[in-house]
Amino acid sequence: MTKTFVGEIGPKPLPEKTRTCWSCGSMGAEHFCESCGKVQAPAAVDYFAFFGLPLKLSLDIAALERDFYGLSRRLHPDRSARASALEQEWSLEQSALLNDAYRTLRDPIKRTEYLLKLEGVDLAEQSKSATEQARTAGEIKKQVVPADLLEEVFELNLQLEQLRGYKKMGEHDSSVTEEIRNHKIALETRYEALLDELRSYWSEWDTLIEKHRSEAAENERRQVTRKMVDLLNRRNYIRNLVRDVNAVLEA
Ligand SMILES: [Zn+2]
Repeated sequence: MTKTFVGEIGPKPLPEKTRTCWSCGSMGAEHFCESCGKVQAPAAVDYFAFFGLPLKLSLDIAALERDFYGLSRRLHPDRSARASALEQEWSLEQSALLNDAYRTLRDPIKRTEYLLKLEGVDLAEQSKSATEQARTAGEIKKQVVPADLLEEVFELNLQLEQLRGYKKMGEHDSSVTEEIRNHKIALETRYEALLDELRSYWSEWDTLIEKHRSEAAENERRQVTRKMVDLLNRRNYIRNLVRDVNAVLEA
């Protein structure tokens, strides 16, 4: 099924500095008024826009950090101690938003998940509803094994089964334990490498963001989105698998 291009899909243009200061009426009021310096009511913008950033995934973290600390200082309650109650409330709200936005954007995975959410893909929600469906059906939630891991996971499961058996009988088999440890190291290496793969999708995404919006560009965006979703699912799978392996090794 191909969706037709609709105007609402895609990045919202950055908010122009057209907000008017509630206090002095001058234009160019974002978090603070450029003229009188008074704090403004928080605007309903996404975390990228909060920092005045385009919807791109490759971020200058040092610049983000600088902006964060700069705004943090200006929003500190001590600085609005003599302001009106409403201004103090806005400062608190802006502060909370600032912290959430910063924590989300500085983390590569959280940043990607957040962008996907803006694009209409909520991974946490998907996982929750899959768990819920399995529970209603009285089943254990099925984990889809990533295709490139099928063989390895099959072998690993056999070895884990074996080790569980040995442990139950109070026996010890150092060769199985050794093999499982090697699998674990390979999985952890793969896990780390996924970040590099993710960065390559960021570049694809960032290039698309600059393109003129068209149906073709929208399709490309959806493709990159799918690749990122697939990668994050693979990442979660490996993380859970390593957790299970550790549980058996430490049992
Ligand atoms: Zn003003």
